[in-house]
Amino acid sequence: MNLSFWKTFSHWRDKKREERLILSKQENKCPQCRGRGFFVMPGDYLGALPVDCTGCNGSGTFLDWEKQ
Ligand SMILES: [Zn+2]
Repeated sequence: MNLSFWKTFSHWRDKKREERLILSKQENKCPQCRGRGFFVMPGDYLGALPVDCTGCNGSGTFLDWEKQ
């Protein structure tokens, strides 16, 4: 892998992240949990347990995510 390829790739990645942030802001959704407010942890022997999103404290809104 050469350096220019890596630069292009990281630029593309940053751009994608930025686009996702803008979209999340417009929809007032937390970009970490996509507005759900929780994550479902798979693979737990008790079954899939929802865990509060650490980014928005479980509210699922962009405003709360931004405050963190
Ligand atoms: Zn969240």
